[in-house]
Amino acid sequence: MASLYIHIPFCVRKCGYCDFYSGAAGDADMERYLNALEREFDLRARHGLAPETIFIGGGTPTRLGAAQLRRLGAILGRHVDRSRCVEFTCEINPVTLTPEKADALAAMGVNRASFGVQSFDPRYLAGLDRAHEAGAAPRALAIARDAGIARLNVDLMFALPGQTLAEFESDLTQALALGTEHVSLYALTYEDDTPLSRRLKDGTVTPATPELEEAMFELAGRVTARAGLERYEVSNYARPGAECAHNLVYWTCGDWHGFGAGAHGMIGGVVQRNVADFAAYERDIGKGLPPCAIDNPMSPAERAETLLLMGLRLTRGVELARFRRFAGADFTTVCGGPAGRLVELGLLEFTPTHVRATPRGLIVLDSVILELAMALGYPA
Ligand code: SF4
Repeated sequence: MASLYIHIPFCVRKCGYCDFYSGAAGDADMERYLNALEREFDLRARHGLAPETIFIGGGTPTRLGAAQLRRLGAILGRHVDRSRCVEFTCEINPVTLTPEKADALAAMGVNRASFGVQSFDPRYLAGLDRAHEAGAAPRALAIARDAGIARLNVDLMFALPGQTLAEFESDLTQALALGTEHVSLYALTYEDDTPLSRRLKDGTVTPATPELEEAMFELAGRVTARAGLERYEVSNYARPGAECAHNLVYWTCGDWHGFGAGAHGMIGGVVQRNVADFAAYERDIGKGLPPCAIDNPMSPAERAETLLLMGLRLTRGVELARFRRFAGADFTTVCGGPAGRLVELGLLEFTPTHVRATPRGLIVLDSVILELAMALGYPA
């Protein structure tokens, strides 16, 4: 019943802030990639998979052409039993979606589309080196709906260099006006060795102040609540019942398989990492070798730390019974000291079944997790 993630590492062009395993590619590269991906499924899914959730991410999966998406659907059709699948998401860069591609996605079973919009303001799209223009997003959402893909998410970024609170509110209002049931809102981060981090170093861009970033975070909660969406994870907001079931697997440290170059999976606390290099991935697969490294099984403390790291991002927090199962000890036994101090500071609270960050705790979540993780003996 483990979930399934499939990585498509191709993009129209590289965004200035991105450090994911992805890059531009031609048609022939994408065909070769599908050949390798098919062989990976032949090798690693010989007995079939029956996931509850499927997520095709990237990269830009819709960088593939309509015929290539149909071929991907056929590969999955041979290896994946979808009878138990409740959610099948595909990430979409708005500029790449055509009606033919949307039909191919719907035919393979995709019922949820996640759009990387980032901003509706052309100045900020240009500043992020995004490959789409502002009008592409509404068109792409309409194409997905016309194809019968009804569950829609919009990703936006905030704290962009020079962005004001009012401009972020305008982006958010435009996203909600599209009738999306889910929004993911990410503060821009400056990852090492990206064009954007180099612009930061040479002073060409100025980052948002922490105060402005915090004001945007708080504004997001108010504006989404008015539209009937609730924050259920630090960066994610949904109408009740429209939470992303696949990402909930990650946030609760469930089990999932990862396929494709650069994908990773985790089954029972054992992480499997596929090589993040198309040539090496293709070479290993060609030799009939699984294209992945398998980590040593996590210790109970490592699993518990990962559960805190991921689960405290959820507004409902970490289930105490699950923590006990992972750590082999009660939360209060292991983390009682720092947890008590965080409760006194108003950053952490307990319910009968969960421990969770308070709204103030979510704003300084990294520090909250660090305090708790140190009690487990591992710096977060
Ligand atoms: S579209 Fe996504 S994966 Fe591709 S370069 Fe941009 S941020 Fe990275």
